[in-house]
Amino acid sequence: MITEELRKAGTEYLGECWHEIVIGCGGVFSCRKCGYTPDDIDDTNKNRTFTTWQDFGDLKEKILDKGDWNEFEDYCYLIYNEGFGLNKYRSLRFSVWLISLDRIPLMLEWIEKKGKETQLTCKLQS
Ligand SMILES: [Zn+2]
Repeated sequence: MITEELRKAGTEYLGECWHEIVIGCGGVFSCRKCGYTPDDIDDTNKNRTFTTWQDFGDLKEKILDKGDWNEFEDYCYLIYNEGFGLNKYRSLRFSVWLISLDRIPLMLEWIEKKGKETQLTCKLQS
């Protein structure tokens, strides 16, 4: 399940603003952090839903760009194996399993977990 916390972690991993829309002067809706103004005044939540192929692709590209793909794939493979066990077709099946909108929650969980580990490392170093 994709919680708001996971969506926020994924958005920030992508280097984007997790918009916090507020009503300003004259009833104008805008993000209090970046000033973004939604087109539709009724839609006050303009953050990513992480339910589309665009979201999946953007996460995949960012994980690759950051050099995190091997770590992410190892994480996924452990989870995949718990469900399927070892078999000779696992490479193909793993790819098919991995490249699915159903894996977006897994991507976000990994990103959130990675973020917490990074924060812990920073605390230990300071
Ligand atoms: Zn914003």
